[in-house]
Amino acid sequence: MSIRTPKELNHTPKKRFGQNFLHDTGIIRQIVDGVRLSRTDNLLEIGPGLGALTEPLLAEVDGMTVIELDRDLANALKINIGANSHADFTIINDNAMDIDYRQLAERVGKGAFRVVGNLPYNISTPILFRLLQFSDVIVDMHFMLQKEVVDRITAEPNTKAYGRLSVIMQYHCMADYLLTVPNGAFNPPPKVTSAVFRLTPFAVKPLQAQDEKLFETVVRETFNHRRKTLRAIFKSASVLPKLSDDDFAKADISPTARPETLSVADFVRLSDVVFEKLYNIE
Ligand code: SAH
Repeated sequence: MSIRTPKELNHTPKKRFGQNFLHDTGIIRQIVDGVRLSRTDNLLEIGPGLGALTEPLLAEVDGMTVIELDRDLANALKINIGANSHADFTIINDNAMDIDYRQLAERVGKGAFRVVGNLPYNISTPILFRLLQFSDVIVDMHFMLQKEVVDRITAEPNTKAYGRLSVIMQYHCMADYLLTVPNGAFNPPPKVTSAVFRLTPFAVKPLQAQDEKLFETVVRETFNHRRKTLRAIFKSASVLPKLSDDDFAKADISPTARPETLSVADFVRLSDVVFEKLYNIE
């Protein structure tokens, strides 16, 4: 596998597009292996750049689609990868935030996408949330983010990293930490350590809150006071109803517990009790 450097391609990394290109072949191999592709997978890469991941990914599938915002890079990919591969390779020169992924899936006609992206960190999270709106056409997604954020998304209860992001993400998806990527693996190197993780949106959620907006409110408000007990939080939070110890018992949660000890299932039961309280359902 040959990794072309920005210099070889006469490409100056563009700050405004958040370009940090992977060049560590060992890390690239681990990421590609981590996706665990089958030849017929409907692969979609967002932000392929110079093709560091694209080339080894394309070697494992019959075809793939990429979305690249930078026109110079989209053109370079056409020449460097498209021309050298027998696989079905489609380049879309567009902003990944503007794509209708349902329409795109229909156009490609190979079912739901498996998504891979090493994107600028400021755009990864909005794109990730956008993709979650299209979860009916997405099997799973693999993203590179700051390690600290990946730690939070994949955290278990009773850890420092566990919080609002962990509960909300794990309510909608299975979240798996895949690997840590040191900053030296990129050219130019970013300031922080990164990590790759997989999100698999649930086709059928294992747990369903009666009111998802309310569930999100309960999670957000309680974690705004992560050091306090639930009893104290519910006593003082203006946007939440008062809960009695009987209400907590109904949710099977101790009023003296702190938010970080609650599992996703605990939060769903708690928010359902809040729902009943708000709407006076017995
Ligand atoms: N995946 C490559 C490139 C990483 S740099 C690698 O690992 O080496 C991030 C890439 O995302 C750049 O090519 C940048 O132009 C592209 N990009 C940035 N914002 C984008 C957006 N909104 N939509 C699509 N591509 C984007």
